[in-house]
Amino acid sequence: MTTIAFIGLGNMGIGMASNLAKAGHDVRALDISEDAVARAVEVGCKGCKDTSEAVSEADIVVTMLPAGKHVRMVYGDEGGVFDHAKQGALFIDSSTIDVATARAVISTAEHKGFHMIDAPVSGGVGGAAAGTLTFMCGGTKEAFEQAKPYLDIMGKNVFHAGDAGNGQVAKIANNMLLGIHMIGTCEAFNLAEKLGLDAQTFYDISSTASGQNWSMTSYCPAPGPVASAPSNNDYQPGFAAAMMLKDLRLAQDAATTARAATPLGTQAEALYSLMEASGKDDLDFSGIMKLINGTI
Ligand code: NAD
Repeated sequence: MTTIAFIGLGNMGIGMASNLAKAGHDVRALDISEDAVARAVEVGCKGCKDTSEAVSEADIVVTMLPAGKHVRMVYGDEGGVFDHAKQGALFIDSSTIDVATARAVISTAEHKGFHMIDAPVSGGVGGAAAGTLTFMCGGTKEAFEQAKPYLDIMGKNVFHAGDAGNGQVAKIANNMLLGIHMIGTCEAFNLAEKLGLDAQTFYDISSTASGQNWSMTSYCPAPGPVASAPSNNDYQPGFAAAMMLKDLRLAQDAATTARAATPLGTQAEALYSLMEASGKDDLDFSGIMKLINGTI
């Protein structure tokens, strides 16, 4: 049994912490929301009141927070994780955050004698609850190997993407591609329909032809062809358009810093920001179909 501090028990964190507790670990739960801590206690964690109580005996600290500023604060602020953790403890940050912050926080952790990896996930709330997340990890091989048995409890696919921050790089590059091919798929279905070709017939042809892609065959944005897709459930998420926009913004910020040309990523961000402007960013990200076909 390992003592694990888990900080950030929101939609994702609660499922992940619950799986660690179910596997027999001593999970110390901390969140600024008392309700979140209460939910963690219900699923087998010990509720904590402050950082010292959560992390001072922990061998591992897992964080699952909204954005880079929360990660910087939770680790680096006075009275934060760096001040209270045991020497040699391992930190796993699974939040989706900007690459620069991930690299800076890991570098500080290492200077202070801790091990740390960035380990953002894909798989959503369902994957967090089921323990089937994909982890994309950045950091030293040693820290990754140390983290892996615990990531295996929370996930199904665990990848070491290289040095610190590379997990975040993999995550935002993948999600930028997902946003782009989702929009392209919507445009193709809309064009076909406007020209008199129904969604099912177009799907039958394109899903076995060169237009085939994940957005089409696993998550079809046109209602009908893929029964489990959010398009058949009024575009309820799923993976909300707001979350896609967050990842596209991170990708654009990183692209600017790296001077990488991402013209389609730029367009994808602009289109998802129109979803936000129209107040529809709580729809699933495949709901961008409604923007493309003019029904928002
Ligand atoms: P969430 O907002 O539901 O949960 C975040 C939790 O962090 C909240 O409970 C909040 O109270 C807590 N928190 C914020 N500041 C804190 C602090 N200073 N100390 C302690 N707790 C604090 O978000 P989520 O949906 O669980 O997502 C978490 C991360 O995972 C995000 O970075 C998100 O981009 C990423 N992610 C989410 C999904 C998804 O489908 N929800 C999928 C993949 C990745």
